[in-house]
Amino acid sequence: MPKTQIATTRHPNLKEYLTQLREFRLDDMFETRVLGRAYEVEVNESTFIDDFHLEATAVGSTHYKVELRWVENKILANCTCPYDKNCKHVAAVILKDIRRSSY
Ligand SMILES: [Zn+2]
Repeated sequence: MPKTQIATTRHPNLKEYLTQLREFRLDDMFETRVLGRAYEVEVNESTFIDDFHLEATAVGSTHYKVELRWVENKILANCTCPYDKNCKHVAAVILKDIRRSSY
């Protein structure tokens, strides 16, 4: 059950969207407090299953599984943590991917 919907402009798929996303855009997607804490979250095993689906593990006090799926021009994000809105783990996974694609 996805907890997060991030509306986007039109891109063909998740991979393409994340390649073009710039870090400052996350200000609109996440609460400032949540985004600030995302920089402290370690992300492991961030892997594209295909161009529409990314899976990652976020490491905090425990491991959380984060999934991003591309559905009808939106990112549907899910995380196994108890926070019921856009959480720092989802933000951290997106940040990591933005940085990976900027090299
Ligand atoms: Zn989370």
